[in-house]
Amino acid sequence: SIIVFGSINMDLVARTPSLPVPGETLLGYSFATAPGGKGANQAVAVARLNVPTIMIGRVGSDSFGQELLSSLRSTGVHTEDVLADESHHSGVAIIAVDDRSENYIIVIPGANGTVSAVDVDRLSQHLPGATALLLQLEIPLPAVVAAAQAARNAGVKVILDPAPAQADLPIDLYALISIITPNAIEAAQLVGFPVHDADTAAQAATILQQRGVATVVIKLGATGVFCATPEESFFIPAFKVEAVDTVAAGDAFNGGLAAALAEGLSIREAIVWGAATGALSATKAGAQSSLPDRATVEAFLKE
Ligand code: ADP
Repeated sequence: SIIVFGSINMDLVARTPSLPVPGETLLGYSFATAPGGKGANQAVAVARLNVPTIMIGRVGSDSFGQELLSSLRSTGVHTEDVLADESHHSGVAIIAVDDRSENYIIVIPGANGTVSAVDVDRLSQHLPGATALLLQLEIPLPAVVAAAQAARNAGVKVILDPAPAQADLPIDLYALISIITPNAIEAAQLVGFPVHDADTAAQAATILQQRGVATVVIKLGATGVFCATPEESFFIPAFKVEAVDTVAAGDAFNGGLAAALAEGLSIREAIVWGAATGALSATKAGAQSSLPDRATVEAFLKE
């Protein structure tokens, strides 16, 4: 199985003609809720590819929490060890999008912000027999480090998506990570110079490897993916697709990568799976609603 330890959010999305200025009340066109959070998105991405998936994290003891859990379960994700936190609300992202596609986003971590080393106990039960632990940075960093340490001790591969972008990570964390998967912006934040193509990605990867990560995979959007392992480095161009909305493309990539590695494919083949899953998700609107199932990815790879 693959374990995901991370955030679970409800996205609250309003469409409006323009974004309100401070003090202004305006009438919007529409409102919708949609399950999100990088942790939950990655769990759904893996489960849609038919690999057993266990989610560890926290929701609030509110109606969003119940909806988030049943939505995860409906895609096949195991949620028995997601805690319903009595004293916090579920994580939410309050999003407004206007006619020019400008947006504002307010993320309130709620229960995600209380994830701690206590939650790693529930995670540890599942480590024997797990093939990978997927981590992101939408829960407190000490919990991320404790989870990575537990997986490392159990000999389980740790795949860290260092998102949202963070200027630095604790140096101890790098050595616990098997594969780090920043996008261009996240890679630039971590190394302190712009990353925008295969050359700059190669320079960034070298620095991240010197900090102790074994394998660096840098996601360069519609350009492609750069990878440096201890043995080799290479660039794989992106698939050509009609992109409509790249929300959760990075999460889709990580799900595809992890699922392929769980089935014993090489890192190169797994990146192709990740890139196909990411590209397909970019052809559909939404976060979890855009994540492709296994048959769709297999058919796309045969084209
Ligand atoms: P993030 O969503 O984290 O910003 P990227 O935009 O780099 O990350 O997207 C993740 C991966 O999804 C890319 O590496 C690529 O494989 C795929 N992808 C994203 N956007 C496109 C696109 N427009 N065309 C083809 N593939 C894409």
